[in-house]
Amino acid sequence: MSTTMTDIINEGEKYLLHTYNRFPVVFEKGEGVYLYDTDGNKYLDFFAGIAVSGLGYGNETYTSALHEQIDKLTHISNLFYTKPLVQAAKNLCEMTHLDRVFFTNSGAEANEGAIKMARKYHYAKGNTERTEIISINHSFHGRTMGAVAVTGKEAYRAPFGPLIGEVHFAKYNDIDSIKKYVNDKTCAIIFETLQGEGGIYTVDEAFIKDVRKLCDEKDIVMILDEVQCGFGRTGKMLAYEHYDVLPDIVTMAKGIGNGVPVGAFACREKVAALVPGDHGTTYGGNPFVTAAINATIKVFKEENILQNVCEVGQYMFEKLEELKEKHPCIVAHRGMGLMQGIELDEAPGEVINKAREKGLIIISAAGNVIRLLPPLVIKNEHVDAMISILDEVLK
Ligand SMILES: *Cc1c(COP(=O)(O)O)cnc(C)c1O
Repeated sequence: MSTTMTDIINEGEKYLLHTYNRFPVVFEKGEGVYLYDTDGNKYLDFFAGIAVSGLGYGNETYTSALHEQIDKLTHISNLFYTKPLVQAAKNLCEMTHLDRVFFTNSGAEANEGAIKMARKYHYAKGNTERTEIISINHSFHGRTMGAVAVTGKEAYRAPFGPLIGEVHFAKYNDIDSIKKYVNDKTCAIIFETLQGEGGIYTVDEAFIKDVRKLCDEKDIVMILDEVQCGFGRTGKMLAYEHYDVLPDIVTMAKGIGNGVPVGAFACREKVAALVPGDHGTTYGGNPFVTAAINATIKVFKEENILQNVCEVGQYMFEKLEELKEKHPCIVAHRGMGLMQGIELDEAPGEVINKAREKGLIIISAAGNVIRLLPPLVIKNEHVDAMISILDEVLK
């Protein structure tokens, strides 16, 4: 195996399917909120592996729980029960205020399962014609056939048709554009409580409440995708808690396992229409990944993570507002908690590369947006360091 970063990168380009334009860095380890490459360079992490590593790197409680579980049992299949599985299901029901949980291996699979369940819900009632799904422009729900079919970005769907079909795309925060598509065949409405990939757009309280009301009136299944914005990122465990609204199904992944591949969807009893034979997964909810969820939740409680997100998120909001005042190239600033974005007047690629050269890792979102998704354990001093690098780079 080669040793310099360039050798490793060249070898990677030879063997990996070229589905990503990777940044030219080979990461080796993480400590707290810092990452280190194989040359020993240190980087301040403001992307957390796309909103995954909420606890940062090397949290003692988390890593020792994983070590312990590896020594006992990592996999057994869904044909049996395990303690971590049952504990994680209970934890997620309490956290979401919903009734039942299904574990998946990713966010896309969580959305896939949610779509299947919404269709089965109407099918089981004999309403087999109720199959149409309303989604939102600029949304992102994942890359499997079902999840990509409800993703509001044409370029992600076009090469892969025919997709599952009967999907309409309405405008975010525009209840009339949703109502335009509602008819006797409407099955479900799906959207992100806070759009991530689409450019960090928050939901209006009136809109999410109107959708809830509409779904109640017409017996439509309301699905909220909290794969990116859930699990503490906005300062509440679920972003919908800010609006005092409950969905029928919520989908989760990214932060819930703090880096092990795990997702889930939770639902109300009323829509829990999937029964034995309808749905399944070999790995889903295995004792290793569910131990990771339980350990992550434990750390959230013990280390007051939500409070930290609120406090540092507020501080970051103020500092980014100041930065926006100072640099006219920042045309907008949006977001909540530790999920914020600044929109530039041009593509942010160069800013992102220059920031990385100065030891700051940030990523983009659609529409010239720089996305800031740090580990949820960052402190004000890390925000100051991020701001000072951005300030220099934007000059
Ligand atoms: C990342 C993401 C997904 C897809 O999750 P994967 O684990 O990559 O399949 C779905 N929805 C949202 C909102 C996401 O941000």
